[in-house]
Amino acid sequence: MDVFRRCRSCKGRFKVRPQSPNQRYCSSHERQLTRRRLWQKERLRSDSDYRENQLRASADWRARNPDYWKSYRQKNPLYVVRNREKQKKRTSDRAGAKMDVWALDSDLRSGTYILTAVSNSLRSKMNAWIVQLTVLKATEGPLADRL
Ligand SMILES: [Zn+2]
Repeated sequence: MDVFRRCRSCKGRFKVRPQSPNQRYCSSHERQLTRRRLWQKERLRSDSDYRENQLRASADWRARNPDYWKSYRQKNPLYVVRNREKQKKRTSDRAGAKMDVWALDSDLRSGTYILTAVSNSLRSKMNAWIVQLTVLKATEGPLADRL
């Protein structure tokens, strides 16, 4: 069934695209918004005065509205949950990327290794362990086709 809404910008009635159920603007105003965002992104990248002005303006705004985000989070618990999930994903993506680089750089092979704690290695090798490491073939994840 078709869903219709009023555009937030021109108040005209528009049909919501089924693939974007949260659509709030008619298609022509959505295009305008997209253009403006792209313009601003490019300007932020290329114009350091503009960037400084924007940073200053948003710092001023935060200083004038110190409780905005706190009360926004209280009113929108779902936002908090989603944000936490996104942050978790970003953190684990980064960990994955790091592990990837480490695996490629170190060229780790199966074999016998001496394992020492970093803090011990400077003083003596007395507490070193001799360990056997076996590189397992990764069958999934970022390392799958690299080991
Ligand atoms: Zn519109």
